[in-house]
Amino acid sequence: MKIGTPREVFGGEARVGMTPSVAKHLQKLGYECAIEIGAGQAAGFSDADYEAAGVEIIATAAALWKASDIIAKVRQPNVTETKRLNKNKTLISFFNPAGNEEGMEIAKSKGANVIAMEMVPRISRAQKMDALSSMANIAGYRAVIEAGNNFGRFFTGQITAAGKVPPAKVLVIGAGVAGLAAIGTSTSLGAITYAFDVRPEVAEQVESMGAEFVYLDFEEEQQDGAATGGYAAVSSPEFREAQLAKFRELAPEIDIVITTALIPNREAPELWTEDMVASMKTGSVIVDLAAEKGGNCKLTVADEKIVTENGVTIIGYTDFPSRMANQSSELYASNIRHMLTDLTPEKDGQVVHDMEDDVIRGATVTYQGEITFPPPPPKIA
Ligand code: NAD
Repeated sequence: MKIGTPREVFGGEARVGMTPSVAKHLQKLGYECAIEIGAGQAAGFSDADYEAAGVEIIATAAALWKASDIIAKVRQPNVTETKRLNKNKTLISFFNPAGNEEGMEIAKSKGANVIAMEMVPRISRAQKMDALSSMANIAGYRAVIEAGNNFGRFFTGQITAAGKVPPAKVLVIGAGVAGLAAIGTSTSLGAITYAFDVRPEVAEQVESMGAEFVYLDFEEEQQDGAATGGYAAVSSPEFREAQLAKFRELAPEIDIVITTALIPNREAPELWTEDMVASMKTGSVIVDLAAEKGGNCKLTVADEKIVTENGVTIIGYTDFPSRMANQSSELYASNIRHMLTDLTPEKDGQVVHDMEDDVIRGATVTYQGEITFPPPPPKIA
């Protein structure tokens, strides 16, 4: 069978679903590999790199989709792309099934099998295919780099001949995958780093990375939504008030705020209010990684960088992984390669779409003319 990767058509997307090094692994699984001409260019992979890795270069998107049994790509396909599927094709891609009814209906009517990368169950066995985590890791790192690029001072404290420089103070709100990556990057640059999460179990991880966990003066357990499989739930009004009071106290001292707080299937909670922004020092920076879901900061504008009247820069970019497209593509393509390894038990270049396998079943959103989303909960942990 042939695995083909088209050029991403979503505006500004620089990632690519197959890299030359991953293509070599896919060939070891028995597949032929192809890309649309120039598909890896924006991510720093030339057609010559692919050719050297044994990948066929196909001149147009239409020809690439037609020639491929399996299409491996990054972004949710648009309608034109989805209509190129048929019953002999499997698509592996982000697909946004919860918000892409139309795409699922088209894929179903075409009889195509679709594996949605954001649906890979978050269980130990599937970590190697967990594209949400690999992309969140990059976003967390890049958020700190972006903050530094917009911050006029050092992260680390220094004693120089010209005088003493205090270290920057960084607050990371939300210590999931992206937040922990941001904490690691911030502490390694030498900033004094604080972190907060509604899940108290992350305090130890935060502290082991050299950051200080922010505890609330609150009688209940710090978490009021632990029963959600490791994810956060909506906070009670009292908890939220205690949280906001703590942030209000910290705001005038903090130089950089990285917000990553998300609750599955909801708008992001608003945690950094207008008055907190107003009380921050001129030159401070906020990077809101929740911008795509409405933002954790009241003033965030998705996909933009704004500067407030009091000189606080607020960054609401939603494309952090694409801003590091070479690294992101390598990790994302590896996630897909691991998915294909499980889909190819005989290493003979033939997909065995085993719907009894929890991971494959969980990620499959259309199969043999049926919509199979949402999946049943996984049986294993
Ligand atoms: P996420 O992107 O859904 O949320 C980011 C963080 O925001 C979470 O830590 C959440 O607790 C926090 N948050 C939500 N509301 C908040 C609030 N009001 N104030 C402060 N923080 C708030 O999370 P994620 O990065 O996808 O990870 C969620 C969980 O899943 C973590 O426990 C993670 O370790 C786990 N996980 C497990 C696996 C696996 O086992 N394969 C893979 C990835 C993640």
